[in-house]
Amino acid sequence: MSEFSYFQTRGWIEVVVGSMYSGKTEELIRRVRRAQFAKLQVQVFKPVIDNRYRAKEVTSHNQNTVDAMPLNNIEEIWDHLNPKTRVVGIDEGQFFSAEIVNIVQDLADRGLRVIIAGLDTDWKGQPFEPMPTLMAIAENVTKQHAVCMRCGAPASRTQKIAGGNSQIEVGATESYEARCREHFVPRVDSRHEDKSEQMTEANP
Ligand SMILES: [Zn+2]
Repeated sequence: MSEFSYFQTRGWIEVVVGSMYSGKTEELIRRVRRAQFAKLQVQVFKPVIDNRYRAKEVTSHNQNTVDAMPLNNIEEIWDHLNPKTRVVGIDEGQFFSAEIVNIVQDLADRGLRVIIAGLDTDWKGQPFEPMPTLMAIAENVTKQHAVCMRCGAPASRTQKIAGGNSQIEVGATESYEARCREHFVPRVDSRHEDKSEQMTEANP
């Protein structure tokens, strides 16, 4: 049982991390739904990444959906937070600034249950702040695994297979795949692409 009791009245922080395709959003949605079944007031927030992602919902790769409020920055949460809300869900936590740490601490201190999902490492295999800090301050951390696209083992890394060198391009899911430690390389592994292009992209 990785979740705390729904009958607990004090606040706390839960973090769900993993690579892309590890089911983080699916798990966030599952916990949000259970809180809704328990008749708790729930609000879900997510970062506005670009205009394609202004839709007021969060959708998992399995096409499960819950309503979500897009925020331009995490401070905007104070403009939208309902005083009756008992559970706050936050998706794509890695795209918010470090201020999210203070804000979720504040929410938990006020007695709210806060569930944050996000990528724990970037496509170079490096810690993806603010998720590592959120993991440290959380009462409960769940690390999810995807399936390595090379060998089928549990995958903990997000391999970039196309595109440039920006940290993570949201929505460009075709540019990434899940890999295990053995098959992950901290560069664009575009072996299906033209060799000259691969050389350029692999050497920032
Ligand atoms: Zn593998």
